[in-house]
Amino acid sequence: MRFDSIIIGGGLSGLISGIALARGGSKVALISAGGSALHFFSGSLELWHEGAMAMVPFCEKHPSHPYAKIDTARVERYTTIVKDIFARVGITLQGSSEQNHLRLTPLGALKPAWLTMEGYATFSLGGECDYHSVAVVGIEGYLDFYPEFIAESLSNRGLECGVYNVRLTTLGGLRESSTEMRAVQLSRALSGKTIEELARQIAEKIEDEEVVLLPAIFGLGDKDATKRIEAVVGRRVLVAPTVSASVAGVRVQKALMDEFQRLGGTVLNNDSATGCRIEEGKVVAIRTANLEDEELVAENYILATGSFFGRGLVATAEGVYEPVVGVDVVAPASREEWYSKDLLDAQPFERFGVATDNKFHPLLDGKPIENLYAIGALLAGADAVKEGCGGGIAVMSALRVVEEIEKRG
Ligand SMILES: Cc1cc2nc3c(=O)[nH]c(=O)nc-3n(C[C@H](O)[C@H](O)[C@H](O)COP(=O)(O)OP(=O)(O)OC[C@H]3O[C@@H](n4cnc5c(N)ncnc54)[C@H](O)[C@@H]3O)c2cc1C
Repeated sequence: MRFDSIIIGGGLSGLISGIALARGGSKVALISAGGSALHFFSGSLELWHEGAMAMVPFCEKHPSHPYAKIDTARVERYTTIVKDIFARVGITLQGSSEQNHLRLTPLGALKPAWLTMEGYATFSLGGECDYHSVAVVGIEGYLDFYPEFIAESLSNRGLECGVYNVRLTTLGGLRESSTEMRAVQLSRALSGKTIEELARQIAEKIEDEEVVLLPAIFGLGDKDATKRIEAVVGRRVLVAPTVSASVAGVRVQKALMDEFQRLGGTVLNNDSATGCRIEEGKVVAIRTANLEDEELVAENYILATGSFFGRGLVATAEGVYEPVVGVDVVAPASREEWYSKDLLDAQPFERFGVATDNKFHPLLDGKPIENLYAIGALLAGADAVKEGCGGGIAVMSALRVVEEIEKRG
C-alpha cells in the first residue's frame, strides 16, 4: 500500500498531523496501536506553565527544547488552527495563547491551562470566576470524584460550597458493581431516564447555589446531558475532571479519528508498526504486526508514538531505545541518572526522547533521516509535568511538521 504520508501513533499528535495533512489533500495512513494519553485527558491542553510570553526568553536559552524548534512566533497561528480543528468536530476549546487560565485538578487544586473544553469549570489567572457559590455533587458508588476535596479547595478561594451526593436507582447492575462504576461505563449509562433522575435529585437536594459542579462523565451517552440537567435544575452546570479514564479524552480521540477518516485518511486500527526498511538514509517502507506479508510505503513518515506511556520509548536494563526505527535517543546510559530519589523533584526521564534536528527529523547515528519526522511526547528535551507543556508540544510539533512536509511538496 502506497501513501503520501504514514503516521505511526493515533494519540493527539498523530491525529492532529493526520487531519492537517488530509485537509491539505494528502493521501495519509495512520497506524494506531490503541489507547493514548488522551484516555487520561483532563479536558484542558497545557501550553506552558508560565504562559506563552515566558516561552520566548526560555527558548532563547534552551535551543534544543521542542518549542525552540517550533518557533514561538507560530504559537498564535497554531492556536487558531487547533481551535478550528476541534470546532469542526463539535468541541469548543476556550482560551487563547495570550494568557493562561486556571483549571481544576481532580483533587481540587488549580493548574495553569491553555485551552479547555467548554463546560469545564475554569478560573482567571488570579483565581476568580463569575459566580459566588457552588453545589458540588457526587454520585453514590462512583469513586473517581471527590466532592469534599473540591469543595474545600473552592471554599479556601472564597466560594460558598455545598457538598451533595445523589443515589441513582436507574443504573441497574452498574450501581451494584463498584468495579464497573468508572467514568466511561457510567457515561454510557447516562441517558434518558438516568439523566432525568439525576437532574431531579440535584434539583431536590441543592440549596440556592448559583452553579452545580459535577464530575466530567457526560458525553458518551447523551451528548446534551448537561444542558438537560441545566433545564431541570435552573442553574448553570459545570464539570470537573475525574481521576482514572477520561470521558472527555475518549470523546476527543474518537471525534478526531472520525474526522481524519471523513477527510479520506486510512486507519490501520489495533495494529502496530514493528520496524522499517531504510535505504540510502531514507525510510522506504514500514512493517506492521497485522500486515505480515505487505509493506507500507510513503514519501514521508511521522513517528507519533509517545513517550514511555505510549511505548514510543522503551527502557530496559541495557538502556532506553526507540523500538520502530531505532533512531537516536537522548537519555544517559547510567540508570542512576534517570530519576531523582525525591519524588517531588523534576524527574530526568521526563526529558528523555528522540533526538532530532531543528525540523524534527530524527537522527540515526547522528545524521537526520530526511523523510522521517518525530512529534509529540516522543520528542526529547521537554518535561511535560514540570513545564506544563504536553498538549502544546503534541499539537504544535504536529502542525510544524505538516507545514514542513507541505513545503517540500
Ligand atoms: C496519563 C497522561 C495524561 C496526560 N494528560 C494531559 C492533559 O490533560 N493535558 C495536556 O496538555 N497534556 C497531558 N498529557 C501530556 C501528553 O503527553 C500530551 O498531551 C499528548 O496527549 C501526547 O500525545 P502523543 O500523541 O504525543 O502521545 P500518546 O498520547 O502517548 O500517543 C501515542 C500513541 O502511539 C501509539 N503507538 C506507540 N507505538 C506504536 C507503534 N509501534 N505502532 C502504532 N502505534 C503506536 C500508542 O499506542 C498511542 O496510542 C498527559 C500525559 C499522560 C501520560
